Amino acid sequence: MKCCLCKKDCGKYGNNPAPVNCNPKARCCDNCNCKIVLPYRIKMTQSQKKEIKKVLNEVLNDKD
Ligand SMILES: [Zn+2]
Repeated sequence: MKCCLCKKDCGKYGNNPAPVNCNPKARCCDNCNCKIVLPYRIKMTQSQKKEIKKVLNEVLNDKD
């Protein structure tokens, strides 16, 4: 298997690179998983939380 991010060998199975690469067949190596995919996922989660707060605020402001 080849890492879809750095093109290096990522072993037999690799890691799921979503949401950086959403191709279901794509795999990434441990290094890219730790340095790119995991931080990206955390960022996505944080921005989703911000979105939820924003939407919530809009809903609350509408009532006022
Ligand atoms: Zn890689």
